[in-house]
Amino acid sequence: MTLFDILERLANLQQSGFRRNSLLESLPSVQVNALYYLLRCNHYSNTPGSVTEYLGLTKGTVSQSLRKLEEKALIYRQSHPGDKRKVLLFLTDKARQAIEGALSQDNIAKVQSALPSGGEELQLQLMGLLRQVQLREGVRLFGECQFCRFHQRQQGQSFCRLTQELLPSESITLICREFESQ
Ligand code: SF4
Repeated sequence: MTLFDILERLANLQQSGFRRNSLLESLPSVQVNALYYLLRCNHYSNTPGSVTEYLGLTKGTVSQSLRKLEEKALIYRQSHPGDKRKVLLFLTDKARQAIEGALSQDNIAKVQSALPSGGEELQLQLMGLLRQVQLREGVRLFGECQFCRFHQRQQGQSFCRLTQELLPSESITLICREFESQ
């Protein structure tokens, strides 16, 4: 099996994990992936454009999927408080519970935790692989805030040097469209 085969099988099994949830089982993969992205992204990245970039799909496909999710009351939209032209997307409580419930049953995480050092080395190698491929493809990295070169601690709080704003503590493990490697 090539590495491509292994990653494809793992991604497929991960999708099956989501499908064991009664709320998610009937949704197309693109909708499940959009919900998962909205669970994982920070408050600078929950826009329709960011979902489109992250999923690497056409604007039309993602817009249609977001509309369907809204009709099913799995997401809702709000205007950006500082810029009324911008739209922000949020998970509803039932969507958040469904995605978090599916993740709690995630077999990949369970097996990883049984590997030597909790599978940390494997995770670092795969992350290195992902970054190299992203750089070759010229796409955004969408990395975790705590590892971004703009992340700083100021008086015991997280601070973003790019936006010049304090960051909520819970957001540092979330992914960001503006992330840049150290
Ligand atoms: S520090 Fe980096 S990842 Fe975090 S909010 Fe700022 S730009 Fe985004």
